[in-house]
Amino acid sequence: MVHPMLGDIITNVFAWLPMFSFVVVLAILYVAKHREPVPGGVPLGKTYACAQCGRRGNHEHMVPVTHEGAVVWYCSHCSH
Ligand SMILES: [Zn+2]
Repeated sequence: MVHPMLGDIITNVFAWLPMFSFVVVLAILYVAKHREPVPGGVPLGKTYACAQCGRRGNHEHMVPVTHEGAVVWYCSHCSH
């Protein structure tokens, strides 16, 4: 014979399991959605290394130059 309290716990677990699974799936979807990078956005504080001198600078201080189909970054010093 199953202990009455243990029986209640097992009944509760089976009653709550579908809802619990639903909440877990929602949480995973929520995290996955918010982890997506912003399309075309540049993360704040990201720095680029100059392709010419290797100096690192903020996105605002760097000049993108298309080089053989790829974009490379030059600092304001080397872009002139
Ligand atoms: Zn440079």
